[in-house]
Amino acid sequence: MLFSGRKRPRTVNIDLLRHWLRLCHSGHENLCAQLEHDNPQARRIRRIRFIDLKDLCVRTLEDFDHTQRGHEYVALSYVWGSPKQATLTSENIYILGQTGELTKQCLPQTISDAIQLVQLLGFRFLWVDALCIIQNDDGDKSEQIGNMSQVYGLAFLTIIAACGTNSMSGLAGLRPGTRSFEQREVVVIPPGTGSAGLSLLTTCESHQTGFWSPSGSDFELSAWNSRGWTLQELAMSRRCLIFTRHQALWSCGGGFFCEESRFEHPLLDPDVKNTAPFSMPIRFALYSVGNVLTTQRINGTMSRFITSSEQFWDKYNRLVQNFTFRQFSFNGDRYDGFRGIEDALHQISGEEFYWGHPRSRFEFSLSWVPEYGLHRNDDKTTLPITSLNQRVSFPSWSWMGWIGRVSCSVRSVRSVRLAR
Ligand SMILES: [Zn+2]
Repeated sequence: MLFSGRKRPRTVNIDLLRHWLRLCHSGHENLCAQLEHDNPQARRIRRIRFIDLKDLCVRTLEDFDHTQRGHEYVALSYVWGSPKQATLTSENIYILGQTGELTKQCLPQTISDAIQLVQLLGFRFLWVDALCIIQNDDGDKSEQIGNMSQVYGLAFLTIIAACGTNSMSGLAGLRPGTRSFEQREVVVIPPGTGSAGLSLLTTCESHQTGFWSPSGSDFELSAWNSRGWTLQELAMSRRCLIFTRHQALWSCGGGFFCEESRFEHPLLDPDVKNTAPFSMPIRFALYSVGNVLTTQRINGTMSRFITSSEQFWDKYNRLVQNFTFRQFSFNGDRYDGFRGIEDALHQISGEEFYWGHPRSRFEFSLSWVPEYGLHRNDDKTTLPITSLNQRVSFPSWSWMGWIGRVSCSVRSVRSVRLAR
């Protein structure tokens, strides 16, 4: 029954999510378990905090090594939105560190749902920015934001809340009554003697805009996918469990699954799985962005995703284009919002970046062009090289200094020579 439709229930079947996890864990060992680099330093984090689901408190771990037994964790990627939410501060960090304290907090629905889901999936630790970074401590924020590529890159799984517009929206389908769309079944051939019959099902994806389009899926059109911070969270993650408003999706280096279609089979070669769902709308986003950083090495050989310098720069160009399409609540965050991507690209290639521009192709990278009208980013940022209290303006020569979508055309030296 591979590649056939499947009626997705109103409430997500947790056993199906566990099945996806098991398939990836047991079948993609050389793919999804691998990190994108061999740098042992980048595999440890000096200090990280988690929501501890065993003791129900916020726990700080020093010199964290994700390979230690019991240290597998899940990260949450979501949209804060406008409602004020519970955060970790220098005033409440002691209280939130006490066993059982989280049960007394009024948490936003998305975080509360993520906690429940992570417990059901059998993990102990969950990373959520609001509760794992001291929000009123610039020093802690700078240190933790500098760890973003590791936080999402070392996570066993990232839960992406691509439903709703803020942290009160929850994970659609986790609780009864949170999914409204009902699939319709049209029987073409009734089941009978010797025949299983044939039915058509309405899809969970195509009805939003009324027409099919690679950029018209629920995931593509979600508020989550429009936000600046979430690009690096997606790009770093090895495995993503995505909640759109109508169904849950799984994407990892070895496969793509969704509730409404049967893709899962333990004997299916990961290569087949990678090409088969490539035509699905969501794959355009995930394969053009996500896997650039996830599967560089497979058993010591270069991955099929980054096989040449040209492809590496093509990914960089696409990441810049995708990033500049996104919005930030504070445009001063545009520097920090790209830091994790720079960090991961550096781990893969050794490339250094300056205001988002690669040093080895700096002159090429200056030839970025606006796709639509741009306006100047007048906000300021705090560079890691400056003192924490000194905020600086964005330079006008960098695409980071402007707001609006841009195209970059950085190429390898070889392809430039060929073009001449
Ligand atoms: Zn996998």
